[in-house]
Amino acid sequence: MAAAAATSAPQASGSPRPPVCLLVLGMAGSGKTTFVQRLTGHLHSQGSPPYVINLDPAVHEVPFPANIDIRDTVKYKEVMKQHRYVLIDTPGQIEVFTWSASGTIITEALASSFPTIVIYVMDTSRSTSPVTFMSNMLYACSILYKTKLPFIVVMNKTDIIDHSFAVEWMQDFEAFQDALNQETTYVSNLTRSMSLVLDEFYSSLRVVGVSAVLGTGLDELFVQVTSAAEEYEREYRPEYERLKKSLASAQSQQQKEQLERLQKDMGSVALGTGTAAETLSPVRDPSDLILSRGTLDEEDEEADSDTDDIDHRVTEESHEEPAFQNFMQESMSQYWKRNNK
Ligand code: GDP
Ligand code: MG
Repeated sequence: MAAAAATSAPQASGSPRPPVCLLVLGMAGSGKTTFVQRLTGHLHSQGSPPYVINLDPAVHEVPFPANIDIRDTVKYKEVMKQHRYVLIDTPGQIEVFTWSASGTIITEALASSFPTIVIYVMDTSRSTSPVTFMSNMLYACSILYKTKLPFIVVMNKTDIIDHSFAVEWMQDFEAFQDALNQETTYVSNLTRSMSLVLDEFYSSLRVVGVSAVLGTGLDELFVQVTSAAEEYEREYRPEYERLKKSLASAQSQQQKEQLERLQKDMGSVALGTGTAAETLSPVRDPSDLILSRGTLDEEDEEADSDTDDIDHRVTEESHEEPAFQNFMQESMSQYWKRNNK
């Protein structure tokens, strides 16, 4: 059985394979969490328990998922090496992850270290109208172009409705146009032309029908995962290696400039004992973002809290991420302006 081979533990011979990271994305309610849980059970039963990273705040019950993202990932790079698969569940609200700085950082950190695949989960039963189907596909398409990673569309909830109608729409442009023509609601010309654009996207897309509730379709899924992981090694790995190199040199220059600017600002602002140099350690590799992130130092926060009114949450975040560094610089210059009026 192909799927059994795909999900088996690493071979004893040769160097151990790095784990394949499955980054599970999709609209709220599409079934990401259920899917990850089902997949976890499936892999356990195959004798290959996955390493699961839960970034879904609905499960954690915390207000700021971006923090947990990074912290949870911090300590576990070593642990991840012992697993064949790493499953990453993401927040119900997809944009919290895909369009946030920390989501981008995590994605890049993963993808620069491990074969990483995006699994876009969609609710098939809520995509039966051609217009909603197309909206969902456009979203998937935007994520593909944002992450640039191998991509699998999981058409979930096939226990409610079979996904064959959707596959037909993707394979047969005429069939989709026919469905659009039957729409009683207003369908703009834009919708029609967008569907032409999507045709290109569909042609290279991996699609699997799954029921996360029943656990059907998982064997086929792992066939696709294996093929996507090969695509990663073939096409994405070399690109990431190249990016990593150019990023390292660009970043060290950028950080030097940022540091100089910050030190200049800090010369005018009394900020307790911490120095800018301590706060901003240079990033050499996207995966350093995850590995080197420190834990919160609550005592520092207490000690400083009566000397100024800077938002310390900002300072805490400033260890590695360039985005947070910018944010911090911005806050500091605002603070500086406020206090020097
Ligand atoms: P998430 O927001 O993407 O994490 O979605 P959840 O996993 O929380 O699922 C949302 C709802 O869809 C829940 O009520 C699930 O029980 C339901 N659900 C998830 N997968 C399936 C499926 O394969 N079939 C059916 N019928 N319902 C599902
Ligand atoms: Mg969820």
